[in-house]
Amino acid sequence: MNGTPGPLVLVGPSGAGKTTIAKELVKTHPDRYTLSVSATTRSPRGGERHGHEYLFVSPARFRRMVEGGELAEWAEVHGECYGTPVENLAEVSADGSVPVLDIDVNGARQILKRGTGAVVIFILPPGPGEWVGRLVVRGTESPREIARRLRTALDELRAAPSFERFVVNAHLDQSVVDVLAHAAGEPGGRTSASQAAVLCRRLEAGARSEIARLEAGEQPTLAGPKRAQKE
Ligand code: 5GP
Repeated sequence: MNGTPGPLVLVGPSGAGKTTIAKELVKTHPDRYTLSVSATTRSPRGGERHGHEYLFVSPARFRRMVEGGELAEWAEVHGECYGTPVENLAEVSADGSVPVLDIDVNGARQILKRGTGAVVIFILPPGPGEWVGRLVVRGTESPREIARRLRTALDELRAAPSFERFVVNAHLDQSVVDVLAHAAGEPGGRTSASQAAVLCRRLEAGARSEIARLEAGEQPTLAGPKRAQKE
């Protein structure tokens, strides 16, 4: 390690809780960490504001950002484009805090290639039940869209073996502690690659059986009203 630490990059399947961890990390350590606000072509969801959750831009504007080298990385996720403005990385190192990126695995690989000393941590949900339930009740999507979201989540899971650091997000406070331990290069809170691989197989099996149910025209198993209220 030399000089300013590189960005902290949280990756993992949708529904693992990486956004919640990123926000909690910045809330509890405002002097050390700053959230990187990405640009996206997707429309804002309820309550989201331009410049807060995302920079909401048109596809044409996004294309210009790519062509003009304004993005440190970008990727297409769920049919929309997402990218990290270069200035997020530069701006943050200027005030001494570390940018926290909550991005997909393709974006993380691009950040690693830039050689900025990024610490990439793969966030895993603790088990298939609650995770699949969370993905299923997340929006007002049709079963087809839920199946698509699950398939993307499966793709993200399959990328896990190419990463080195894992945190199983069972309890938010502990996950923040574990992420900080990884960022500091400390041995605490580690989930080994082989433990992560075993968990990934269970998660994959859970997601695959839910996709099969949805494709057979059945109702999502875990979208009961009790869970929906919890979200
Ligand atoms: P959502 O639309 O649910 O907010 O995000 C969808 C996915 O896009 C999430 O997996 C999120 O991590 C990813 N994402 C958000 N911002 C970026 C970004 O700047 N770059 C990349 N590569 N992925 C992003």
